[in-house]
Amino acid sequence: MKPLLPGATLGILGGGQLGRYMAIVAQQRGYRVAVLDPQEDAPAHQVAHYRIVAAYDDPTALGQLAEICQAVTFEFENVPASSLEPFQKAGVRIHPGAKALAICQDRILEKTAINACDIETARWAPIRTEADLYGALERFGETGILKTARSGYDGKGQAKVRGTAHAIQAWKAMGAVECVLEEIVPFAMECSVLAARDVEGNCFTHPVCENMHTHHILDVTVSPARVSESAARAMRSRTARIAQELDYVGHLAVEFFVLPDGEVLVNEIAPRPHNSGHLTIDTATASQFEEHVRCVTGWPVLPYEMNVQAAAMSNLLGDAWEGGEPRWERLAEHPDVRLHLYGKAEARPGRKMGHITGWADCADEAERVVRNAREALKQDSV
Ligand code: AMP
Repeated sequence: MKPLLPGATLGILGGGQLGRYMAIVAQQRGYRVAVLDPQEDAPAHQVAHYRIVAAYDDPTALGQLAEICQAVTFEFENVPASSLEPFQKAGVRIHPGAKALAICQDRILEKTAINACDIETARWAPIRTEADLYGALERFGETGILKTARSGYDGKGQAKVRGTAHAIQAWKAMGAVECVLEEIVPFAMECSVLAARDVEGNCFTHPVCENMHTHHILDVTVSPARVSESAARAMRSRTARIAQELDYVGHLAVEFFVLPDGEVLVNEIAPRPHNSGHLTIDTATASQFEEHVRCVTGWPVLPYEMNVQAAAMSNLLGDAWEGGEPRWERLAEHPDVRLHLYGKAEARPGRKMGHITGWADCADEAERVVRNAREALKQDSV
């Protein structure tokens, strides 16, 4: 299949910050962009040529989008599989494909696919009945993390459980839907590997990102991660293997747990650009959004190198607006960082409003740079 040429239209399902960056890059490359999102003022709607304000399963809206675009992609994995049908019927290229999407939106299918590549995850069991839950708890020492098989993100749809009564109660509170129970992993670090794979099967991975979370939401990312070379190699090669097995086209991220002995386990796959990859916008030879747009429009993937020694990113959540507008003017004293804001009007606690990227000669220093810059934005900091 030939690459799409400038002038063609890329459709994006989902209008959050990931969709916004995809749209901006696509426009830089001469494409027109059509976004479908139910929120009128969604970050990607603000920059799109065509705005379709409708639900992701609205057949009329999907039909309209399929009519105007030559390629379609999505910025989140919970798009209903049926939403892809109008595009299939209209002969629009869909990347990543329906198979990768179906696998990545269901933790049971996802873990099964990962384990089928001989790649380790935390020990897990599918939970469909109370008996499944009893059996799994017994295997994992009466404790574990219960996660809904579908529709979870940023720690939503999951609970740490201890003992059968608590586990059953937590499962019922989730609506007794299909779940997985995972063994609790005593990890030393969480990491992600960003990767892009093109239609020809060429794949590049970015140096490993080290991710620090607060309340299950990504707080700070540092790359390259402060892990051994062998752990980094293992994570990068496993990511490429997973992309190949899924016949994946586009950008993806694989999240890992690194154990104290350096062993690595896959946590989950994000079939899209990833929050930890935001640092690539300012510090890599190609950003994760550039890689994604290239691959989904049929262009060859680009080498994915860092053009700094070490990069870091700190998220700006709505909480930063609690005491009023952050003190943006103070960033004038931090020329070594870049501010990104996503155009969201309402700053709710926990909502991702933007991020700060910084770089330095080593990971420790890059981390310090973005933490300091974020601290300076606080009303009461000096
Ligand atoms: P997830 O939505 O699966 O990425 O989980 C969100 C966060 O919960 C992860 O980033 C970890 O910090 C934590 N977590 C998830 N699964 C496990 C596990 N099996 N063991 C320990 N911590 C976990």
